Amino acid sequence: MHLMSAAVPLPDPLSVTVRAPAKINLYLGVGRVRPDGFHPLETLFQAVSLYDDVTVTSADEWSVSTVAEGPQVDLSGVPDDEDNIAIRAGKALVAHHGVDRAAAIEIAKGIPVAGGMAGGSADAAATMVALDRLWNLETSDDDLLAIAATLGSDVPFALVGGTAHGTGRGEVVTPVEDNGTWWWVVVFDEVGLSTASVYAAFDLGEYAVDDIAIDPARFQILRRGEAGATMAVLVRNDLEDAAFDLRQDLERKAEAILQCGASAVLLSGSGPTLLGAATDAVDARDIAARLAERGFDRVTVVNGPVAGAHVVEYE
Ligand code: ATP
Repeated sequence: MHLMSAAVPLPDPLSVTVRAPAKINLYLGVGRVRPDGFHPLETLFQAVSLYDDVTVTSADEWSVSTVAEGPQVDLSGVPDDEDNIAIRAGKALVAHHGVDRAAAIEIAKGIPVAGGMAGGSADAAATMVALDRLWNLETSDDDLLAIAATLGSDVPFALVGGTAHGTGRGEVVTPVEDNGTWWWVVVFDEVGLSTASVYAAFDLGEYAVDDIAIDPARFQILRRGEAGATMAVLVRNDLEDAAFDLRQDLERKAEAILQCGASAVLLSGSGPTLLGAATDAVDARDIAARLAERGFDRVTVVNGPVAGAHVVEYE
């Protein structure tokens, strides 16, 4: 006998938790400011193993609450109202589907605020994926990416993860073949640095160069996936001089990271977080230990590439 059973629809979950990664820019080429105020970018994003977890439950009204997961997170700059990018993301998704729903959003934040690691963008991406699953909206990937781009230039990459080439303002994201596991020593800062102020210093210092294209050698390094000396050839961040103009202490910190054994040092996005390149996990921990001996107390080790926003709990 052949038994046919009708598919039983699963009940909607009560809550969904989505994890989204921090990003670093292995390469950040920044062109001259355009009349619309934006800077054209050529970037190589990498998602690294530092995360925000976002949990959503249905509610009558939108709300957001945030807890810090570690000393690198200072919550004082995070809005707890509709200015929070997580609520903006939720509302954009709801508007796209023309439904009238709201949610309570809880963020467990491991990504530093205004640290140049796109924590807000991670929250936006995680919120969209979480709400999509909570309410079974079945949003297509293309639609999610399009809504993400309206929220901020780093949000599409937070959905995609891995290693990717970003163009436009960074919102046009194409995955890149990366066969390595890259280890980074992350040196956090006590005070955030606003992205807008770094771009203003970039314009003032006339730091834009004509050629921001990513040379094929960099893609080849990623394809080969061999860490070590190649990392110094791989990394570039055109915002570094502008950030150092605003914060001279960062330049001294970068020198200390090299003295502690990193094969290259890199400003993360618009800073102030700094990244030391390591050859492997052991090397990364050794560099971190040497930095700790020299009094740097906000240091961690991460690796990349890791996955973009993905469900970790479903109840
Ligand atoms: P980017 O490199 O994309 O500029 P960043 O890592 O330097 O990002 P974020 O932590 O993403 O900076 O946030 C920048 C500002 O956005 C914060 O100072 C805060 O005022 C505001 N903000 C709004 N929502 C959030 C959120 N969910 N998390 C963090 N900051 C938020």
